[in-house]
Order: sequence, then C-alpha cells, then structure tokens
Amino acid sequence: MEPKLNYQNNYQFKEARFQLVDRLRQRGIKDERILSAMNKIPRELFVDPAFVSQAYEDIALPIDCNQTISQPYTVAFMTQALNLKEGSKVLEIGTGSGYQATLLYLMGMRVYTIERIYELYLKANRIFQQLGVNVLTRWGDGSLGWKEYAPYDGIIVTAAAPKVPEPLLEQLAINGRLVIPVGDRSYQAMYIITKVGDNQFQEEQEHFFKFVPLIGEYGWQNGG
Ligand code: SAM
Repeated sequence: MEPKLNYQNNYQFKEARFQLVDRLRQRGIKDERILSAMNKIPRELFVDPAFVSQAYEDIALPIDCNQTISQPYTVAFMTQALNLKEGSKVLEIGTGSGYQATLLYLMGMRVYTIERIYELYLKANRIFQQLGVNVLTRWGDGSLGWKEYAPYDGIIVTAAAPKVPEPLLEQLAINGRLVIPVGDRSYQAMYIITKVGDNQFQEEQEHFFKFVPLIGEYGWQNGG
C-alpha cells in the first residue's frame, strides 16, 4: 500500500508548496519521487510556529533547542544522492523536526531515525503519530549508528561531522551509500560515500553546505 499522510491539505499553502517543488526541479533535482513526496508534506507543521509564513521559502528555519529544519534544496539533494530503491532500509542521524524522515517514509523506504536531544525526539514522535508516519525512532548518539538493524542501504547524516564516523561505514550494506556533511563548524563539503566491498569505499564530494554540528562520540565534543 502506498504510504500516505493523515492530513487535510490546507489550500493556503498548496500553491506555495507547488512553487517550491518547481524551484527544486529547476535547481537540478531530477528524481520525481522526491519532488512528488515533497509536494505532499505540510512543511508548515514542522517549522517553529513563528516562521510558518516562511515555511515554503527555500531556506533552513529554526526549530526548538537551537536546531534547524534543513533547507528544502539540501533535503532533496541529499535524498537524491542516497540513490535509493523503493523499500530500501535507511538510517537517518539527526531526526530534528522529522521532515526528512517523513520524506523518506513517503517515498516507500523503511526508515530508522536517531535524535540526540530528548525534547526534539519527543516532538518528532508526536508529529509522526499525528501524520501516521511509520518510522522507527530512537533517542541517543547517532554517530554510533544503530547496530541492531544494520546493514543499511543508505545512511543520511543531517548534522555536520568533523570526520566520517567509522561505525556508519561499518553499518552500510554493500552498494549502500552514506551521505554526510564533513568539515569544520562553519562549512562542510557533502561527502557521498559508496561501499563497494567489505572494506572498500568510493567517495565523491559535492559543494559546500552549512549544518548544525553532529555532537557525539564520533562527532564534535559538546561545546568544544
Ligand atoms: N533532518 C532534520 C529535519 O528534517 O528537520 C534536520 C536536522 S537538524 C539540521 C540536525 C539534528 O541533528 C538536530 O536535531 C541535532 O540535535 C541532531 N544531532 C546532532 N548530533 C547528533 C547525534 N550525535 N545523534 C543524533 N542526532 C544528532
């Protein structure tokens, strides 16, 4: 059965959402599965209520606890880079608002998502329940991955790492991809790493992005 959201489309945002998706297409997002799923997600429910009027601008916006919901272009770019088939098993590190996990769910993926901030973890769980998004969530340090369910066909890290966390490479399936921003605290290159053999990887780097830090054992130390 095709995944759906329990949500009455709000006509106030329909046109803005359509225009955003069209802009993403013009910026080079070609995967129609991503565009069509993004056209169904009420981003206004995932952003801080004070920013609802900007929900369909192609920008990152604040959520609670000093974190952000990523820019729609970045979400679409990273999802496209994962190169997933329907039904793939995907691990997301950094649940945040829950928007990215909702997108992967709507695209027909089996989604596992980890958030380190308890308040955000709870809030994301509430919106998943409200919208009927069937994903497995966990509160903890995602830089360690989620070993119980490994290997994953795709791992997406939505926070910036100082280096590629070793456990995530280990938890990738053969032919699986890890998409992760790596760099300093100001800017990061997007690494797209494909596991081609047991200990063999191919790596591409794409242009620069700016993410909040990945904090954890294989990320930045808190405050450091
Ligand atoms: N994917 C999110 C969305 O769709 O809204 C955006 C995520 S926000 C840019 C980055 C998130 O990563 C924050 O919520 C932050 O708390 C979380 N984070 C940072 N370090 C983490 C870690 N080690 N494990 C899990 N989550 C982490």
